[in-house]
Amino acid sequence: MSRKIPLYAKILIGMAFGLLFGFLVVLLGLNQFASDYIKPFGVIFLNLLKLIAMPLIFASLVSGIGGLKDISSLSKLGLKTVSLYIVTTIIAVSIGLTMVSIISPGSYLSQEKKAEYLQRFSNDITEKQKVAESLSDNSPLQFLVDIVPENVVEAASNNTSMLQVIFFAILFGVALILAPKSKVRIVKDFVDGLNEVILKIVDIIMHTAPFGVFALMVSLLVDFVGDDLSASAQLFGSLGLYALTVVLGLALIAGIIYPTFLKFYAGISFKKFYRAIFPAQLVAFSTSSSAATLPVTMEQVENELNVPNEVSSFVLPIGVTINMDGTSLYQAVATVFIAEVFGVELTFVQLLTILITATLASIGSAGVPGAGIVMLIIVLNSVGLPVEGLALILAIDRPLDMLRTSLNVTGDSMIATVVAKSEGMLGK
Ligand code: ASP
Repeated sequence: MSRKIPLYAKILIGMAFGLLFGFLVVLLGLNQFASDYIKPFGVIFLNLLKLIAMPLIFASLVSGIGGLKDISSLSKLGLKTVSLYIVTTIIAVSIGLTMVSIISPGSYLSQEKKAEYLQRFSNDITEKQKVAESLSDNSPLQFLVDIVPENVVEAASNNTSMLQVIFFAILFGVALILAPKSKVRIVKDFVDGLNEVILKIVDIIMHTAPFGVFALMVSLLVDFVGDDLSASAQLFGSLGLYALTVVLGLALIAGIIYPTFLKFYAGISFKKFYRAIFPAQLVAFSTSSSAATLPVTMEQVENELNVPNEVSSFVLPIGVTINMDGTSLYQAVATVFIAEVFGVELTFVQLLTILITATLASIGSAGVPGAGIVMLIIVLNSVGLPVEGLALILAIDRPLDMLRTSLNVTGDSMIATVVAKSEGMLGK
């Protein structure tokens, strides 16, 4: 009798083998082999996810909105979603600030290490600084302008303009509700059918996830550890307390805040919730991109948590672009850590500024690897801290990015479940 192995177990096995194999590759000096013959499969998996993300957003959002009763249901849904996203982000930043103030990791980093990191990574931050400058140069309402694309095909072809595609899909869905039913039925049926086809494609892609995750983990280890295992271990040692602060903060949100929301506002046990979204968390962990993980998140939230497409197709893509609890917590911890290392005492007003700017910066971060550290520059600027401080945390940013991305995806799924429940649509 053959028992079916659940998807999450297969992905977990892929990840574990990837880690093991990755270490072996580094130990045996087979880095070139791994780059040539294993890494491409990770890239293919990532491309498959990205490939389907935009069509999925369009078809599922239009089909979801088209299935709503009227426009007022949509505005209610929108208001609820955005308010919940902002509330959880503020909670995340507050937890980050509290944890870093209690643990105070910056006071443990020696002056020699500080000087070493500042020198070693100074070149790497110039690029990031340029990106951040171009963002903060804009007028205060530029973010609104950026939501409305002048060319929808161009927006869809660029994986970082998710919000623009969401905007067009909402407009399309709203028009579909308002137009005379008899005339647009064919369009609605077509988009509903298209949505089914795309969901099937996601299903197919998910079958490749265990192998994709394996390849991603191997190439991550090769890129991150390189050929000097002991140097990486040392790095972790000196920045361990900072990393631990971020990890503890993330764990607190995942282990206490989300379960509380789920229990009181969705009536769902956290065990059921986490079992359902585990595959999405694993893919987020190995890709460091909540945008690339969106197809998986959507599939799990709809199929395993029974959140209807009308809710998930709206709440999740918006969450990917504006809701990043993990990123905002990390930005708060990193800012105070850098202040501590530079011997800057932050005033209450400055802490409040961090609360506001980290919330906004996480909203502005794209769901792609390393976006959080670029937006961190804006938070550092807001309280007058030197941008060079990034050099202190750059070296261990990737593993923390993997963890915060998993939390970002978890937060989106949690809110989708809560919103579905509050609309009386959970499990329907
Ligand atoms: N990688 C994160 C995400 O995709 C963003 C970040 O914090 O860098 O959600």
